[in-house]
Amino acid sequence: MTNSRKKAVETVVNREVIAPRIAGVKVSDYYASNVFNDTAMREYLSEDAYKAVKSAIKSGTKIGRDIADGVAAGMKSWAMKKGATSYTHWFQPLTGLTAEKHDMFFMPKGDGAVEVFSGDALVQAEPDASSFPSGGIRATFEARGYTAWDPGSPAFIMEIGEGKTLCIPTIFISYTGESLDYKAPLLKSSHFLEQAALPIVHLFDKDATRVTATLGWEQEYFVVDEALYYQRPDLMFSGRTLLGAPPQKGQQFEDHYFGTIPERVYAYMLDFETEAHKLGIPVRTRHNEVAPSQFECAPMFEEVNVAVDHNQLVMDLMERVARRHKLRVLLHEKPFAGINGSGKHNNWSMGTDTGKNLLSPGKTPKTNLLFLTFFVNVIKAVNENADLLRASIASANNDHRLGANEAPPAIISVFIGSYMTDVLNEIEKRVAKDKYDELTNANLKLDIHNKIPDVMLDNTDRNRTSPFAFTGNKFEFRAVGSSANCAQCMTVMNAIVGKQLIDFKVELDKLIKGGETKEGAIMRLLRQYYMDSKKVLFEGDGYSEAWEKEAKKRGLNNVKTTPYALDFFTTKKAKEVLVGTGIYSERELDARVDILQHSYSLKIDAEASILADIAINQILPAGLDYLNKLLANIKGLKDAGIAATSAKAQKELANEIAGHLNGIKTAVDKMVVAVEGTHKGKTTADHSKAYCDKVKPFFDVIRGHVDALETIVDDNVWPLPKYREMLFIR
Ligand code: ADP
Ligand code: MG
Repeated sequence: MTNSRKKAVETVVNREVIAPRIAGVKVSDYYASNVFNDTAMREYLSEDAYKAVKSAIKSGTKIGRDIADGVAAGMKSWAMKKGATSYTHWFQPLTGLTAEKHDMFFMPKGDGAVEVFSGDALVQAEPDASSFPSGGIRATFEARGYTAWDPGSPAFIMEIGEGKTLCIPTIFISYTGESLDYKAPLLKSSHFLEQAALPIVHLFDKDATRVTATLGWEQEYFVVDEALYYQRPDLMFSGRTLLGAPPQKGQQFEDHYFGTIPERVYAYMLDFETEAHKLGIPVRTRHNEVAPSQFECAPMFEEVNVAVDHNQLVMDLMERVARRHKLRVLLHEKPFAGINGSGKHNNWSMGTDTGKNLLSPGKTPKTNLLFLTFFVNVIKAVNENADLLRASIASANNDHRLGANEAPPAIISVFIGSYMTDVLNEIEKRVAKDKYDELTNANLKLDIHNKIPDVMLDNTDRNRTSPFAFTGNKFEFRAVGSSANCAQCMTVMNAIVGKQLIDFKVELDKLIKGGETKEGAIMRLLRQYYMDSKKVLFEGDGYSEAWEKEAKKRGLNNVKTTPYALDFFTTKKAKEVLVGTGIYSERELDARVDILQHSYSLKIDAEASILADIAINQILPAGLDYLNKLLANIKGLKDAGIAATSAKAQKELANEIAGHLNGIKTAVDKMVVAVEGTHKGKTTADHSKAYCDKVKPFFDVIRGHVDALETIVDDNVWPLPKYREMLFIR
């Protein structure tokens, strides 16, 4: 082993468990202690200010200047009491990370200073936005973009070491009002969905005044030791291993899933959970995942806007707390070839303020019809907009996972389970095409009513290969990438379902006007929708080749790479659903696609240069080193007059190694030329497609040679920590 690799491995072997900071204390003692939540608001805000914030949260009413001053004063008192000395607008630009710019409360005054925080500072700020991606909306010379307070997500205090900062969740928009972040469109989509869903809810429940989209995410991740991480430039700069032969033992023994959690990782989990709990993030589940060194954490679901913020915060906490434990968390979708990648399951539903989950079957025929209405409309929405959903989860990282035989494929289909399939088949058979007959269908209502609630929760969640599965009281979108901002796909989800619900209501009203009963009209429409949507329903093994063939026959798209998946955002359909609904302006959507295409190119470009660097500067010398040893040996044998047959193995090895070294050098040279060639394209999309089609294929060629070398070159000269070291030493 090279000296530095050997040292790193020794370091890992000798690591002590770092005890979690808080142990043996009830979570309820500190839960949400760093959140400016309802309790804190009641304590620190005047009656008027409190009411204004509540109304802004509930119905989006504007908060006047005077009131804003009052809210800011209350927030400042609360934050200062907690030890915060500065504040920041916290936002989610399209870089995929969160952003913040800190300002201090203090202001010099006379000989000393005072702490100030005005309503203006709370409501709006102008970060120097010139370095955030804007897709051409804002030329860098007119750097103005601003962040605006989102009262729907509570302010919180971020603790970093001893430092404490009041963070105000905000949206980020250009000076001309275009969204430049993930959150502004998400908020619009939630509002749109609510407006579309309420009239339908009112057919069943007159008391509901709100419908909110709910999200419960499950976050998968890998953990590696810091010492090994630092020996892997590919992990450090691209988040994944670009090279590495498969370990002698992979995940084939299936012994990791739900196994005991290694102690160091367990301590780490406890620590980041504590930080999450202080921020009112309801993480409740932790377990080992399928691959070695892979884990998952999941919270209770929340309103989608807050859930998105909480997921971004958790990813941030996970990265920070990992360092305290001398670990690195890998949120990348596919850090290691040949073993499972990481996803972020998005459990999505809709709920009313009267406490109903619209995707949960009820206990009476009436509430079941409500459930069926939303259930079938979601299926229809996905059937018609599968391509938009595919585009919403596209990223260079996720391309390695979708369709790589252990993750849902790039084909979007819906799994509903055999029970719901039977229910829908019954409806198809027994509801008449032209008129709903209460008498003939009398039993139908009863059947549904009696069976759904009990059977379903147990029966739905068995197919893990579906990208979009009904799991008893919510749909689970499993194709989302582990490092993604959930907002992107949740925005599309809200949009397509909202649009579908509007279309449904129009058709329904027409039928009712024509003399049909409400119940009859709904049943017949649901029947029709089911029949129209069968193409997207699939109950079989989503990982199988047979499904790829079948999907093709059904006319379902199977777009495996991001630059082409993003094209779905530029279609007429996309404009209809995402622009026609007011969620994006045309310029915003175009800009967003441009940014996403550009990010793809940047990502592949970076990977290409890291790969070239490691291959030429680390792998070639290691290979040469061993090759020279072999050649010296061959020569030595010859000089000593030993029969040529005795050098047979050495010669074969030397030949193989020389072949791979040549292969690496040739492929790297060609790749560099291909990278230069990408600039010939005119549009951002041309560039990214060139990266995808012309540059990326060299990754596999180079990797093929390097990984083959890894298996034959002297372990003592191999520079990079091997898979077995990263995945199995703990
Ligand atoms: P799994 O078997 O996939 O781990 P769980 O039952 O643990 O499923 O639930 C996964 C996630 O689904 C959790 O975050 C949970 O809070 C969330 N969830 C449950 N009900 C809803 C809902 N109505 N809307 C959104 N998410 C929900
Ligand atoms: Mg799940």
